[in-house]
Amino acid sequence: MNRFDVIIIGGGIVGATAACALGRAGVRVAIVEARQPVPVDQQKPDSRVFAITRASERIFRSLGVWENIASQGVFAFTDMEVWDAAGEGMTHFDAAELGEPCLGHMIEPRIIETALSEQLASDNHITRFCPARFKTVDTRNESVTVTLEDGQCLTASLLIAADGVRSPVRAALGVKTRDHDYRQTSIVALVKTSEPHRDTAWQRFLPGGPLAFLPMQDGWSSIVWTLPTAEADRVMQLDRDAFHAELSAAFANRLGSIVDSGERESWPLRRMHAEQYVMPRAALIGDAAHAIHPLAGQGVNLGLLDAAALAEVIVAARQDDRDPGALRVLRRYERWRRGENLLMMSAMDVINRTFSNAQSPLGRLRNLGLSLANRSGTLRRLFMRHAMGLSGDLPALAAVSEEVSSSI
Ligand SMILES: Cc1cc2nc3c(=O)[nH]c(=O)nc-3n(C[C@H](O)[C@H](O)[C@H](O)COP(=O)(O)OP(=O)(O)OC[C@H]3O[C@@H](n4cnc5c(N)ncnc54)[C@H](O)[C@@H]3O)c2cc1C
Repeated sequence: MNRFDVIIIGGGIVGATAACALGRAGVRVAIVEARQPVPVDQQKPDSRVFAITRASERIFRSLGVWENIASQGVFAFTDMEVWDAAGEGMTHFDAAELGEPCLGHMIEPRIIETALSEQLASDNHITRFCPARFKTVDTRNESVTVTLEDGQCLTASLLIAADGVRSPVRAALGVKTRDHDYRQTSIVALVKTSEPHRDTAWQRFLPGGPLAFLPMQDGWSSIVWTLPTAEADRVMQLDRDAFHAELSAAFANRLGSIVDSGERESWPLRRMHAEQYVMPRAALIGDAAHAIHPLAGQGVNLGLLDAAALAEVIVAARQDDRDPGALRVLRRYERWRRGENLLMMSAMDVINRTFSNAQSPLGRLRNLGLSLANRSGTLRRLFMRHAMGLSGDLPALAAVSEEVSSSI
């Protein structure tokens, strides 16, 4: 029997971050990950690139992994421009307005995963089981027991499920979810445009869904093109030239023409929220607890806040000699994060429904909203604060510096 304080199932970005946060506080962690790691020299560039908020950057800095991430390639965006295809309404956001160097960074997931993986390997409080899958979980006793498919048996005070949106652990624990199929699919790819992106994250709202061009190195952009699913299936089949032509037309040639593009991937979209995040001896974090529309690039950022908040709750309980797997302790994490995540999910739904709509009264309303936001400094700063992840009750690992909070 391998005895730990905490077992984490799922070593994606969120699970690995939780492990790093706990390991540095002296908590003995077992982390179980199904995927075989790919050596750095055999990795190929990701088609899907994440917009990482300033709050997430602070978490990575606090954990000592940011320098490693930054040295492998991040791209800071300073501005954001949002506009509606059906009207004149637009809003421009500028980091300088908050006295900040940037609004966030574009980072390939593999870069974050590699930096976290190196951190995990350097912490002797952390034991990795990889590639490995769990066979059974038992949370009925004073400790949780996890049996792996290879027969190994692990035990701990607490099990954390960080195994993604389909979460086999969530299913094994019998946690119910609320689901909604958006009937939309996002196409992601790296594309090169004939005109420079000006370090700006661009988003155009079309009736079928938003189209984002997010700035990357050497004049490339990462696109997230959300379409009704049947339409996305058609666009995925287009040859390169036809794809370039349709994409630049959908973007109203804002950055000129598309001159090159990489591999396309498609991601069907659904919203999912677990009805409970905790139960005696178990907690859910990241996509295992919630899946959100990608229109504001918030999914992994919310998961990182979950990881930091849960680690804080666990470490505080241990300092007070309380059982970190007790429901009373875990409820603090649930109260802290479930409401914040629900708020962000609901906001994304309202935006998606209001903008992915060709009705003219709604069109007038949203154009008015965008113009108002553009004219009102207060509204603009409020929105930027949310987009940068600097609003709400932040865990200590993501705490905002005095200068930033006073300038907002
Ligand atoms: C088109 C698109 C664009 C997006 N863009 C952004 C963005 O710009 N910014 C942002 O913040 N978010 C973005 N997201 C959301 C983001 O992809 C997710 O929120 C994030 O990947 C969730 O991370 P996670 O670690 O919780 O789960 P996952 O990344 O799904 O990781 C789960 C891990 O668990 C492992 N696992 C699964 N089952 C088992 C098992 N039985 N045993 C052991 N291990 C297991 C898996 O191998 C995996 O490594 C986007 C999503 C989409 C669809």
